[in-house]
Amino acid sequence: MDFGLRGRTAIVCAASMGLGRSCATALGGEGVKLVVVARRREILERAAGEIRSATGTETVAVVADVTTKEGRDAILAACPNPDILINNAGGPPAGDFRNWDRSDWIKALDANMLAPIELMKSTIDGMIARRFGRIVNITSHAVKAPIAMLGLSNGARSGLTGFVAGLARATAEHNVTINNLLPGTFDTDRLKSNLQALATNTKRPVEEVTQDIRSSNPSRRFGRTEEFGATCAFLCSAQAGYITGQNILIDGGSYPGTF
Ligand code: NAP
Repeated sequence: MDFGLRGRTAIVCAASMGLGRSCATALGGEGVKLVVVARRREILERAAGEIRSATGTETVAVVADVTTKEGRDAILAACPNPDILINNAGGPPAGDFRNWDRSDWIKALDANMLAPIELMKSTIDGMIARRFGRIVNITSHAVKAPIAMLGLSNGARSGLTGFVAGLARATAEHNVTINNLLPGTFDTDRLKSNLQALATNTKRPVEEVTQDIRSSNPSRRFGRTEEFGATCAFLCSAQAGYITGQNILIDGGSYPGTF
């Protein structure tokens, strides 16, 4: 299927590794011109080169921290009028909420709620004027089924989810859609650090914890980043114009609800 995206432009945040990179690669494969963002230059530039070689698409690397105004200004200077915005950042640390102070909460809110809102604010009116826009926020399965030790993530991402639920209904008539993608357990560096935290917390070997989580998933495996990227690209497609304001779980069937 041709997703009708050839020649469109996308900002893909936090795209040097993991889920963000898979979204960039899938969009690049559809002929979307990319601006990929992360903080560590060397890893980002290597990723941008690999995405360019794999997809043949124009791929510009912007070294920036999405949680800062300077970072977001640099991203928007490289791509002031994106057709597609993929919001993503690192997840907050796991822990016990008794140990978190205000600055821990502000960091989580900056990364997982306020940075996406600021980038939407800067790009959405252009999308509305051009009558095409696709925004995908990478959030977490923890929004739907909270994980106690990821309280910072549960809280900050739920704030973004509530905000998006309102905004998406206000932009739909202009062919600007906003959806959230909720990853379950995908095989990335972030997953490895969460598994390590769980192993430490429960005083069990990390290999045992990893095997338990893998085998307790109905699919008996972790998600593949390509599966995530392909879903993201579809949500950005011309054909997905009637899907908006949704929270789409990609978790191998792990969430046990009927809906
Ligand atoms: P990952 O493999 O650790 O990759 C994170 C990416 O984000 C890297 O490219 C990193 O590069 C970049 N990044 C982090 N903070 C940034 C910032 N402030 N500004 C710009 N770039 C930043 O993580 P992942 O597994 O792909 O996860 C992506 C998101 O999905 C995270 O928020 C994570 O919590 C969430 N999630 C993941 C899973 C999973 O199973 N993998 C499940 C639920 C939720 P630099 O460090 O160089 O900036």
